[in-house]
Amino acid sequence: MSTYWYFECLDHDPPIQSEDEFTQHTDDYPFREGVRLALSRPVPEDWWDRKTLADNYFTAHACRFLANHPTCSLGLLNEYGERRPLSADSSNGASDLNATALDSSSASSVVGSSDAD
Ligand SMILES: [Zn+2]
Repeated sequence: MSTYWYFECLDHDPPIQSEDEFTQHTDDYPFREGVRLALSRPVPEDWWDRKTLADNYFTAHACRFLANHPTCSLGLLNEYGERRPLSADSSNGASDLNATALDSSSASSVVGSSDAD
């Protein structure tokens, strides 16, 4: 099952929604790349010429919108009207998993050092 996600420019009243979806899943590469591009605006002026971007249907959608809104406040909006703030951890759980992995590895090193004592 997929859900189309769009950017929304909050600096316009009413907000302007991107014409094309930039991803269909919140846990995939296009979603993370779209959020990363939005957070690192402005997008490169030659984004369309960059093969890796031009080859990517969703990233091209993201860049087309982001290039037109280089400094605006943006939000994320899906086809069902659900909104999320634009932030590095907008995707579901990905950063939580990383945090958990770091926690468990540091916990085991603490256990190891106490064993040595
Ligand atoms: Zn705008």
